[in-house]
Amino acid sequence: MPESDSAATQTARVSVTEMKTVPGISDPYLREQLEKRRDSLRVAISTIPLTDAPHTFAPFHKLLADVDLAIRNMEEGTYGTCDECEGTVESERLIMDPLARLCLDCLSSDEQRALERDLELASHVQRGLLPETDLRHRDWRVHYMYRPAGIVSGDYCDLISGAGEEGQLLFLLGDVSGKGVAAALLMTHLHAMFRALSGIGLELDRLMEMANRMFCESTIAGQFATLVCGRAGRSGEIEIASAGHFPVLHTSKGGVKRLDATGLPLGLFSTSSYTVRRVRLEPGDSLLLFTDGISEARDNSGEEYGIAAISRATAGRHGWEPKDLVEACLADVEKHSSGRRPVDDQTVMVIQRGVADAAAFND
Ligand SMILES: [Zn+2]
Repeated sequence: MPESDSAATQTARVSVTEMKTVPGISDPYLREQLEKRRDSLRVAISTIPLTDAPHTFAPFHKLLADVDLAIRNMEEGTYGTCDECEGTVESERLIMDPLARLCLDCLSSDEQRALERDLELASHVQRGLLPETDLRHRDWRVHYMYRPAGIVSGDYCDLISGAGEEGQLLFLLGDVSGKGVAAALLMTHLHAMFRALSGIGLELDRLMEMANRMFCESTIAGQFATLVCGRAGRSGEIEIASAGHFPVLHTSKGGVKRLDATGLPLGLFSTSSYTVRRVRLEPGDSLLLFTDGISEARDNSGEEYGIAAISRATAGRHGWEPKDLVEACLADVEKHSSGRRPVDDQTVMVIQRGVADAAAFND
C-alpha cells in the first residue's frame, strides 16, 4: 500500500480496498437490475398481439428464461459460474452483461472475435475523447502520456479550457474501478459528466459534489472512481480537490510537496463533500499527477515503484519542460520495472506555470 498523509486519503484507500474485495456479482443491485429486466420483459410479452407469428414471441421467451435462470442461480449461489469449465465468469463482463454464462476462455472463436471487434471500437471511441497531449492555456503548459495496459483503459484524463479573459483551465485525472470495457465505459461516463458540468460556472467543491452525486446515481454499487480535479487560473493560482486519488506532487525550487486527497472516491456515498485546496505556482513550478499504474509498477522482486520514488524523480527536475518531465518520469518507471509490460493503465500529467510567458499574464 502506498504511503499516505491525510485522514481523508487513508479513509479513501481503505474504502477502495474494501470495495475491491466485494465481488460485484454478489451485489443485490445486480439482482435488482435483473428483476427489473424480468418485469419489463413480462410487460413486453403481454403487449405482443396473440395473432403474431411464434417467431415474434420466441426471442422474448428465451430472454425471460435466461433472466429467470440467472436469478435462480443467484439464489442457489452458482451465479457467475462458467457453464463450460465451471470456472468463474469475469465480474467485469457480468456487470456489462448479467446473463453471460461462459468465461472468456470458453467463448467460441467467433464470439471471441466479436468481443475483440467491440474492444477495438471501444478503444477508438476512447482515444477520440482524449484532449490534445500538448496544451498551452494562457501561461500554463500541460503535457500528458496516456498508456492503456490493454486495448481500452480505465484511466480518465481531460483538459477543458475556459473561454474569455478569465478563462481558467480545468484539469482532470483519475482512475475508475475494474478493468476492461466496464472500466472504459465508466471513464467515458466521467468524461461526459465533467464536460457537461464544467460549463455551468460552479465552484470547484460544488462541481465535485455534484459529479459525485450524479456518479452515485448512475453506477451500480461497487463501481467508483478516484480523481483529481483542478483549476488553473491567473498568476499561478491553482484550486485543487481530490476524490481519494494519489497525491499530486507540487515541484518548486524548494523541493516537492504532496497535495493529498481531500475527499472520498466518487461513487461511494452520494453525500460526500470535497475540500478545495489553493496553491500558488511560481514560474517554472509544476504539478505532477499520476495513476496507480505508475506508483504501483513493480520490479522483478515485486517491489512497487512508489510515491517516494516519483517524488525523488521530479525533485531534481524543477523547471523542466512538461514533456521532458513526463518522459523522464516514465523512463524511471520503466527502468524500475526492467521494461516489463505494464499490468495496469499508466497516465502521467504535468501542469506547469510557464517561465517565459508568465510576466505577460500577471495582473
Ligand atoms: Zn469457462
